[in-house]
Amino acid sequence: MTSSFHPPVRTLMGPGPSDVNPRILEALSRPTIGHLDPAFVGMMDELKELLQFAFQTKNALTLPVSAPGSAGMETAFANLLEQGDRVIVCQNGVFGGRMKENVERCGATAIMVEDDWGSAVDVDKVEQALSENPDVKALAFVHAETSTGARSDAETLCGLAQKYDCLSIVDAVTSLGGVELCVDNWGIDAIYSGTQKCLSCVPGLSPISFSDRAAEVIKSRKTKVQSWFLDLNLVMGYWGNDAKRSYHHTAPVNSLYALHESLVVLQEEGLENAWRRHAINHQAFAVGIEALGLSFVVAEEFRLPQLNAVGFPESVDDAGVRSALLNDYNLEIGAGLGSLAGKVWRIGLMGFASNKKNVFLCLSALANVLTNMNFAANGAKAIAAAEAIYSSD
Ligand SMILES: *Cc1c(COP(=O)(O)O)cnc(C)c1O
Repeated sequence: MTSSFHPPVRTLMGPGPSDVNPRILEALSRPTIGHLDPAFVGMMDELKELLQFAFQTKNALTLPVSAPGSAGMETAFANLLEQGDRVIVCQNGVFGGRMKENVERCGATAIMVEDDWGSAVDVDKVEQALSENPDVKALAFVHAETSTGARSDAETLCGLAQKYDCLSIVDAVTSLGGVELCVDNWGIDAIYSGTQKCLSCVPGLSPISFSDRAAEVIKSRKTKVQSWFLDLNLVMGYWGNDAKRSYHHTAPVNSLYALHESLVVLQEEGLENAWRRHAINHQAFAVGIEALGLSFVVAEEFRLPQLNAVGFPESVDDAGVRSALLNDYNLEIGAGLGSLAGKVWRIGLMGFASNKKNVFLCLSALANVLTNMNFAANGAKAIAAAEAIYSSD
């Protein structure tokens, strides 16, 4: 007979999922009620307000899609685009490539603006593409490229979209809750995120928000959205503000309790404090990493505090180090993706996992593992360097 599954207790410092706050796991285990129960509908209304807070927006069309970040991405493209549309897609890592796939599967054309992996999106190249293609419907880019650890200047890019009178579509799966993000002030038209990165909630939901201008584009489509499940015109029958909510699909009731709790936690901490916590833990980690003799792939000004792409010498056994960390320290870090595979580790300091204990754990575990593998890494020096950042804070 098969017995119950009990996962090992890990520390999650990869590119997501991140460690889930026990408060959120406790919320997840509360009794399941009906997805049209008035008590549940009241919770949904609070959830929408909490998401507006997290995104810093008044957008009425703000809700969690009942599926992971990739479904939020698909929701944005499938609802806004129609056959024959043209979209500028910025690619500086894996996720920009997925945006291109989405655009093409909508029967639209992607005009690519490409930058090196590890660089931010080049604002000047984007402006040139916008001026050469006055007919584009949207500009799409990834705010926080989780495949490389680079942050792009979302505020400036969305300003350009407004200047050239097109919509902006922003991937904020890894940025929400970890770095500054202000949907209304930056004039973002469509944004999607995920729950398992800096919100430290369980995976499987995708918060989205659309400006009134974007909502108008969706309402006045000439053709139906090709995805029945993701069609926001239908989803709003359940998530909208009408007194009568109608069944669209069965909401993931308990996961939504968990998201509600994670946003309550974020509200209690305060957005600015959460951004600041991510920044400080990153700084301490970064000086420790350099003291170990390792390096960063992304230039300092573009580094994401929540996702550290750490380069290592060719002589280091990439997979060997990662499995030693997992087996001996219950510590998960991520491998490199795409053109950075085998060249970097992706070390997350996301949400609940962005704390001093994890910074010290990861630095000392890496020092021990590397030293055992004949790469002399001075753990004491790394810890002292990190400690100096905390004590000067
Ligand atoms: C993780 C991630 C996604 C995909 O989210 P899933 O929840 O894995 O579907 C999309 N974009 C970025 C930038 C991500 O980091």
